[in-house]
Formats: sequence, C-alpha cells, structure tokens
Amino acid sequence: MNDANLATVKLSDVVLRDGHQSLIATRMRTEDMLPICGQLDAIGFHSLEVWGGATFDACVRFLKEDPWERLVSLREAIPDTPLQMLLRGQNLLGYRHYADDVVERFVARAADNGIDIFRVFDALNDLRNLEVAMQAVKKSGKHAQGTICYTVSPVHTRETYVDQARRLVEMGADSIAIKDMAGLLTPYATSELVEALVGAVEVPIHLHAHATSGLAAMSQIKAVEAGCRHLDTCISAFAGGTSHPSTEAMVAAFQETPYDTGLDLIALKEVGDYFREVRKKYAGFESEYTREDVGVQIWQVPGGMMSNLANQMKEQNALGRIRDVFDEIPRVRADLGYPPLVTPTSQIVGTQAAMNVLAGERYKTITNEVKRYLMGGYGQPPAPVDARVRDQAIGKAEVEEGRPADQLKPEMSRLTADIGDLADNEEDVLTFAMFPDLGREYLQGRRDGTLVPEAMPAPADASAERPVTEGVPTEFVIDVHGESYEVQITGVGSGSGSRRRLYLTLDGMPEEVVFEAKDEFVAAEKSGGRAQASSPGHVTTSMPGNIVDVLVAVGDSVTEGQAVLITEAMKMESEVQARVGGTVKAVHVAKGDRVTPGEVLVEIE
Ligand code: MN
Repeated sequence: MNDANLATVKLSDVVLRDGHQSLIATRMRTEDMLPICGQLDAIGFHSLEVWGGATFDACVRFLKEDPWERLVSLREAIPDTPLQMLLRGQNLLGYRHYADDVVERFVARAADNGIDIFRVFDALNDLRNLEVAMQAVKKSGKHAQGTICYTVSPVHTRETYVDQARRLVEMGADSIAIKDMAGLLTPYATSELVEALVGAVEVPIHLHAHATSGLAAMSQIKAVEAGCRHLDTCISAFAGGTSHPSTEAMVAAFQETPYDTGLDLIALKEVGDYFREVRKKYAGFESEYTREDVGVQIWQVPGGMMSNLANQMKEQNALGRIRDVFDEIPRVRADLGYPPLVTPTSQIVGTQAAMNVLAGERYKTITNEVKRYLMGGYGQPPAPVDARVRDQAIGKAEVEEGRPADQLKPEMSRLTADIGDLADNEEDVLTFAMFPDLGREYLQGRRDGTLVPEAMPAPADASAERPVTEGVPTEFVIDVHGESYEVQITGVGSGSGSRRRLYLTLDGMPEEVVFEAKDEFVAAEKSGGRAQASSPGHVTTSMPGNIVDVLVAVGDSVTEGQAVLITEAMKMESEVQARVGGTVKAVHVAKGDRVTPGEVLVEIE
C-alpha cells in the first residue's frame, strides 16, 4: 500500500545513532542510552535508529564497548519499538567490499540480535552493491529499506531517482528512503521528488534529511504534503545543525491536522530533558562545524564529514585552511564523476581535497583509496571520471566494470581461522572482519582484560589548540602529602616558545596544566631528527603522517615514479614515489615512524 493513503505521519527517532554521530563524533556510550530506553520505547515511534557503521567503529575504536552487546542490551531495554540500522550495502559497516558470504552472515546475526529494519545504501547508488544485502534481509524475514543517496549534480535528475526507486522495489524493497545526508534538499525540490516517487512506486517513502543548511524541517513539511508519511527526526537535545529536525517540533507542527503523529509532547519533553543532561558530559566533542551552515548548498559536504575534516585538519595544524578544502571538494568530486558524498566516498573525496590543498599542488599525492575508486573498486561512478586524473593515478591499469564483490571469494572461513580462539562467537569474527587490526586489538584486549575507554577530552577552548600526542593515555597514581590521586595524561598540546600544555584527568576531573619544556624536548618535537630535503633525490612527504611500509632498502635501484614508501595521513594510505631514478643510498625511516613534511626520508643518487 502506498503510504499517501495513510494520513498520520510516523516518526523514526535517530538520537541513539545519527544524532550523536552528527553532533558529538559518535561518542555516546551505552551507559547513557539504557536509562532512558523504557521511556523511548513507550513514545510510539515507528522505529528507533540504533546502529550503523560509525557507531560500530566508535564502540570498538574509542569506547572499547562490544557493539553487538550494545545491540543486545538495547533490544532488551526496547522490547516494543522496531530497531533500525544503516547498512552500507556490500561494505556492511566496514570500509571495503566484503564477499557475499560475509554480507549474508552479518545481516543474519544483526537480525538475530535485534535489528528489525535495515536501511541499505550504496555511496555510488550502484545497486549491484545492494543486491546481496537486500536478499539477506528478506531471507531473515526483516524489513528491507532500499535507499536513494540524494545529491545534486549535472547527472542526477528526478528521473534517475525514480528509476532507482523502481529498481529497488523490483529487488524486494519494502520501503524507499531518501537519504539527504548533506542537507541538500530544498523544500520545493523535496515536493517534486516525493511526488514523483509516490506516483512511481507502491511502497512507503521515508525522508532522512539533515538540518545542516537549515532547510530540513521545511522540506519535511513539503514531503508530507506531497505524500511522504515517514520522517526521521531527532529528540531536540541532539537536533538541528548537522543533525536532524527536532522530534518535538515536528510533533507540534502536525498536531490537530490530518497528519497528527499522535505522540505525546510531554513525554517527549522528558526524554529531551534527559538527553540535554547527557550532552553536557560530551562537551569536549562539540565542534563549531556542526552548527547550521548554508554553505553545504555550495560544498555538498555531509554533516559527519564537516566535523571529521575539521578534526583531521586540526591534527595537521592546518585548521585555518579548511575553507580552501571545502572549495576544493566540488572540484575533486567532479573529477571523480560526481559521487554522492557519504561514507566511504565522503572520506575519499574529502581527504584527497585536503591533500590537494595541503600539498599546494593538485593530485601531487593521490591516496590509494582514490586509485581503487578509479579502478572501479567501489562500483560504477555516476558519470565518467576525468581522464587526466585517472591516467595520472592509475596509468593504463585496467578498470574493473563488473560488480566489485564478484572478484571476491568466500571469506568467512578464512576470517574465522585468522582470528582463531580470540573470537567467542560469529559476532566476534564479524567485528574482526570489519576492522582487521583494530578488531583483533580489541578482542585481544578483551581477552587480556586491558580494555580502557578513551578519556573524555577537555571541553571547547582547551581542546582548540590540541594536537594530541600518540600513545596517550598514560595512567599512574601519585601520592601528595599522604593522599593518592589517579592521574591520566590525555594529551600534550603545543604552545609558544618552550611553554607547553599538558591535558590530564585527576581522579576523573579534566585538568589543563601549562609547563616549561626543556630545550631538547622542543627540538625533538620539531623534527624526527631528520635533515631537510634539498635535492630531487631526497624523498619526502607533503603531509604529516605515519610510515605504514618501507618498500626499498639501501642498495636497491629504483626508477622515477616508483613507490618507495607507504604513508598514512588522515586515515588514508598513500604511496610516496621517487622523483628521480637511481640507487637507494640511505633509508631514514621505519614502519610506524611519525614524519613531517620536508624531512629526508629516503636518499636516492
Ligand atoms: Mn544521516
């Protein structure tokens, strides 16, 4: 039944997933969710969104929580309301394409552990990347929601979206979601799109629109008037800006109209008051880049990407150039054939744009992810890519045109064998599958009983100039006048001259200490003790980062353009190439070293 026949509007609240993902870097802990679940369950939402790629990642990476256990506890605490998750098609919740058997097992375990509605999307809207996940959802007897990633480009039209919706329904979609991750929809564009979709398919249409540009609430009203009956909203404490329109406001807006949601504003206010208190605890993760900004209408940068890029530029001590990066993003996106910007394409485009700006030369360094993208590793770009950029990145390498996962052999049994007895169950194997290094480290830590959640950063201005040193936190106990204090160093900041800031917690309370650094400390911090490059044979990087691999040894002969190092910066790997051919005379780096631009890393003569 087409939902235009249904008068009342149904709301899905996203506070447990997208709300905190968009506003506080996905850091909300399960302990802050559980106390309010009973009240959330009683509201009468169509669904509660609770799980997705970023929440899974943040659990393992930062919070040291088992994301599967979070799901099980939420299911227990929310017995009546359907639970929803966001799934990146063949990428699942990871950052690569998985073989079909992993996709099938992942969906089956997620369904068994409590997910009722699977919103399945592909960043490129390449539906071949959705097929297997959609089938797996149907097989598990759950609700398969096919997704249109909404973007604006010369090649994306209302007709292409209608065609996509039809094909999703043919694939078995029980509903269609319009996913406007960047807040690009305008009220009138929404009317047109929703009207076209409602006229073309029989299944319900859901609207997921970020409030980044300040337009989403208006777009939702227009969507409802055009026949959409399912909206994603977020409880007011985590609404607005790069998150979603507020649940309470939308409930009030439709009261005493045929669209009335029937939800109780007083009960919602209590939930909102609870989350307002919770949000204070995470003040250190707030960012000015999550506020409303109509600039997304120009840059098309989704909410989560804004704050991530801001953080990454901060780590590079280049926050002042972030506007240049936002200007570069549309150019990189056009070069890559107008991919919608959503994980993982948002990271691929965003990081390449940042590198183009920081290196002072476009495509001087090209990340391995951009290369993989150009080789067809993510699927088919919506439009042809720029031939010059492609040739520069991958030369004459063959571009794969089939479904990316067709290249992959079944991998569950290999993964199961690889992780061995660190995995207690199939869920653990799947955690390892999502994050090979991080997942293993997490499971090992769990076995050893050494898991420690990250420390809460100091709020706002203290964290502004805070390039956090790797390897922290360090914990110890100090005794002063017979009293014991637990001290945890959470970061070492920069400063002027020899004055440095040290961030620590003292019995759990964040403190900032200014100290006088010794000269040797200052010198050591400035360079890794390496000389500055002065000739073409001096191999160097254009970005601060870490050495992932050293591909040459002293005495090797190399040709111009040959990759000699692999570095990691901004969570992306890149090859560093020799600018001249010759013999390797010296190698000044090893795996894991931290490097800064301009240093001689390898010498070629
Ligand atoms: Mn979203």
